[in-house]
Amino acid sequence: RKVILQVDHLKQYFPVKTNSLFKPKNYVKAVDDVSFKLYEGETLSIVGESGCGKSTTGRAILRLDEPTSGKVHYSGKNILELNKRDMRKLRGDLQVIFQDPFASLNPRQTVKQILNEAMAIQEVVPKKERLERLLELLSYVGLPPESLSRYPHEFSGGQRQRIGIARALAVDPRLIICDEAVSALDVSIQAQILNLLKKLQRQFGLTFLFISHDLSVVRHISDRVMVMYLGKVVEIAEKKSLFDQSFHPYTQALLSSIPVPNPKLNRDRVILKGDIPSPIDPPKGCRFHTRCPFVMDRCKTEEPELREVKANHFVSCHLV
Ligand code: SF4
Ligand code: MG
Repeated sequence: RKVILQVDHLKQYFPVKTNSLFKPKNYVKAVDDVSFKLYEGETLSIVGESGCGKSTTGRAILRLDEPTSGKVHYSGKNILELNKRDMRKLRGDLQVIFQDPFASLNPRQTVKQILNEAMAIQEVVPKKERLERLLELLSYVGLPPESLSRYPHEFSGGQRQRIGIARALAVDPRLIICDEAVSALDVSIQAQILNLLKKLQRQFGLTFLFISHDLSVVRHISDRVMVMYLGKVVEIAEKKSLFDQSFHPYTQALLSSIPVPNPKLNRDRVILKGDIPSPIDPPKGCRFHTRCPFVMDRCKTEEPELREVKANHFVSCHLV
């Protein structure tokens, strides 16, 4: 399989404001040494509770927030070292779809203006072919031609997300980061949008990095799944492998909280205790040790490494 994006030792530390000049500076370690590969044409989901660093990882890759350190290789180059001009070019390959398209669509622009603006940035389509291209984009996402002259508020939530998807497609991207892209939608609409994304993926050979807190959505769309906890990757595997047999107690706890489609699996339930600790001063050793039902002494001092426990299935836990 061809690697399209490779993330190495990505860190995103946000300074915490203090009102004292003399206190040492504190940081929220939102993403703390995260590495993974994204293969061409796949959907890799990042899951975890809010605050685990999944959205921050997506934003850091696109440099929507400049990461603290690490490398993000795409097409033989480290994205984090590109200048503004090259970064702009890259926006033609790497796009993002957010949870709330309403917030990211200009309310004063018609759909035509929104899509035209996206195309103009990349200069992908000659001016005289634009109308044709606009209608093509609408048909890809299942919106009628008359949508062009309408404003975002005239559409339903699901339709607005279709506009957001059309805008992402306008530049002919290779990779789309979907950040909670269906989380604000009703379940029936979610399924429609997920199926649309899958269809577009096949049609255009797209790669998705799919960020979601919702495991039933993740189960629907993913090829592989990466689980994050407090800024760290705790498990990464093929979807089937992860849902059939997860190894990390945190993943097991997450999976325990969703309905089991196959009761024969007889999964041991792992119930999470307590709240997520603060990412400003995360627990030493294994970051999950304050909530882990299987905690041992070494977990409190020694940080587990991410190791391959079976083919393409990586876990960071001293138990395995
Ligand atoms: Fe639990 Fe220890 Fe594994 Fe962490 S390393 S998940 S504390 S058993
Ligand atoms: Mg988020």
